[in-house]
Amino acid sequence: ENLDQGLQKTKESFLSKIGRAIAGKSTVDTEVLDNLEDALVSADVGVDTTVKIIDRIEQRVAKDKYLGTSELNRMLQEEIAAILVDAPDSGFRDFDTPVGKKPYVIMVVGVNGVGKTTTIGKLAYNFKKAGKSVMLGAADTFRAAAVDQLTIWSERAGVPIVKQQMGSDPGAVAFDTVQSGAAKDVDVIIIDTAGRLHNKLHLMDELGKIKRVMKKVIPDAPHEVLLVLDGSTGQNALEQAKQFTATTEVTALAITKLDGTAKGGVVLAIANQFKIPVKYIGIGEKMEDLQVFNKESFVESLFS
Ligand code: GDP
Repeated sequence: ENLDQGLQKTKESFLSKIGRAIAGKSTVDTEVLDNLEDALVSADVGVDTTVKIIDRIEQRVAKDKYLGTSELNRMLQEEIAAILVDAPDSGFRDFDTPVGKKPYVIMVVGVNGVGKTTTIGKLAYNFKKAGKSVMLGAADTFRAAAVDQLTIWSERAGVPIVKQQMGSDPGAVAFDTVQSGAAKDVDVIIIDTAGRLHNKLHLMDELGKIKRVMKKVIPDAPHEVLLVLDGSTGQNALEQAKQFTATTEVTALAITKLDGTAKGGVVLAIANQFKIPVKYIGIGEKMEDLQVFNKESFVESLFS
């Protein structure tokens, strides 16, 4: 229900675009398929994913051209769902952590403004709600506001935070955090990182260094590198995902700000195009507004 509400704008725009593409047609001909293709691309589904969907529909209608619009809608839903079956799945459900990985270390990366800090706050809240102890590390030491914001979120979620003064070495903050978290035997450590993309080389160096110092305390850390993407930027989010995954070993994706945007179709593009699972989606600014991504529910919400 939350998801339906969160995806309202995407859904309305998505269905009306599809509706227009097939309006007044009683058979599915080339024109309908072309219109449908345009509709999906303009709904941010991405060219690759759209082509896959249209190909599958084309094969099906080759057998039965005389389809009404409601049948075509159902077929579209089925084919989108079928494509997502092959998309990677995090398998993650109830904010559980893997056995033997304690503390479980999550390093959160992404460009400034995408909703990284908010997502960390939401994660802290959810893990805590699931009975886990959580510690945050403010390794984005470049922006004073980042540390302040993360501190506010740590208070909201009621979890401790490790920080140093602005401008200090991000690696040192990460080291302190994992050391303190390991000593206190916490379940989950979440590390914020800087996201200045204008200096890519420097950023990658910094992320690499943060990883290396963590390993001095917990050899297999980070267990998760979560890339946060702003879903409301549509194809830009896809582009950012390409850039980040090419240079950093990302293991999971979070797509934020899906409420208040009609560009939520980009989730389909991202889920289908990367070998990395979409693990979380953000559908609001509040602590409760984070959901574990579920492919089936997402597609159902789009068509319901
Ligand atoms: P950061 O710079 O990546 O750490 O971004 P922030 O976490 O500070 O978020 C930037 C802005 O996006 C803030 O105003 C957040 O409230 C907002 N935001 C983050 N996630 C969501 C979301 O899922 N939905 C909405 N509507 N706003 C969000």
